[in-house]
Amino acid sequence: MCVYDTLCGSEVAQLSMRTAFTATRLFTPVEEIRNPLLVVEDGVISEVSSRSGNEAPANTKVVDFSDAVLAPGFFDIHIHGGSGLDVMRAAASDLPRLGRFLATHGVTAYFPTTVAAPLDSTCAALERLADAIEATVSDGPVQARPLGIHLEGPFLSHKRRGVHPPENLVEPTIAVFDRLWQAARGHVRVLTIAPEIPGAMEVIAEAALRNVCVSMGHSDAEMPVAQAAVKAGARHATHTFNAMRPLDHREPGILGEVLSNNQMTADMIVDGIHVDPAVVELFLKAKGPELAVLITDAISATGMPDGRYQLGPIEVDVKDGKATSGNSLAGSVLTMDRAVRNVTKYSDWSLRDAVRAATLNPARAVGLSAHHGVLAPGASADFLVLSSTGEVLKTIVRGRGF
Ligand SMILES: [Zn+2]
Repeated sequence: MCVYDTLCGSEVAQLSMRTAFTATRLFTPVEEIRNPLLVVEDGVISEVSSRSGNEAPANTKVVDFSDAVLAPGFFDIHIHGGSGLDVMRAAASDLPRLGRFLATHGVTAYFPTTVAAPLDSTCAALERLADAIEATVSDGPVQARPLGIHLEGPFLSHKRRGVHPPENLVEPTIAVFDRLWQAARGHVRVLTIAPEIPGAMEVIAEAALRNVCVSMGHSDAEMPVAQAAVKAGARHATHTFNAMRPLDHREPGILGEVLSNNQMTADMIVDGIHVDPAVVELFLKAKGPELAVLITDAISATGMPDGRYQLGPIEVDVKDGKATSGNSLAGSVLTMDRAVRNVTKYSDWSLRDAVRAATLNPARAVGLSAHHGVLAPGASADFLVLSSTGEVLKTIVRGRGF
């Protein structure tokens, strides 16, 4: 890596911050650009092009990452914690610590995700998360930013609840949804809901109206119910195959709709534990590089030694990379960089397609792809320097951190 200025120091000081980054390849991620030039001004991408010869724009600092790959920062829309911190229990002022940990694994944006808890404590957590989302961070170490909230429940199926405590599951009503929405001050961006429970369709329609990405999950729905939910406004599926009625060739159920609907995005935990690699490959074939989304579902134990941890109100034991509560899996200790590399191991997908499933696809699913998950003019300069095998060498947020 070499860093040089095309101007002397005093001239640079008079100009606004403009930096050009070069490398061997760049993933937009829809396209691959060879010999790329990524120009950043004041934390925003102003140009993405191929470098002709060796020239950089005038009055620009050039940072060359030689044989590395530039890619958008990862966007995790389903994460409960990491580095010992649980997003439902943390103070708003503690979240930057999680953000710094996530940045070391290539994540630049994330949605802190709730689990089913008593409504009062959920609302208190949502207020703290809204505080963290609204806090502006302009200096200090590079960190992933919380951009919105994912409500995983409380409108989940008792039959497919996983570790969500049964006493905290609630029948969906617009009144309860609105109470959560108000506590989160409108920052709810994803709602995981089981469409078959009475009242769900109305809440799905209302959430979709508020631009929430309605995601079917923790569900025992049969296929016609899942199809009705899509008509009502659902457009995504939460940790496909996990906490879902299993696929049956004569009774396809919710998975029949999730896997065959080519308008729906769907996400998966690709940690090698939640879903067998062969089924990961089937999922990737079904959804393709445009609709598959990677999530971690990571809990506070991520990046920590084995032991006992909290997931909202739930106690979780972590041993050998497996998080369980009773007989059920309880989230993961997966990091997004490993999820991306796992995709390239379990399938014939290129690193670019795997990166796409962790960047543009989640950003699109939640309606934020104008500024996130993509390297294009106008987008936030949140990007990664990756090795050719997907190791995160550097994470840059709003043009800072190189
Ligand atoms: Zn989860």
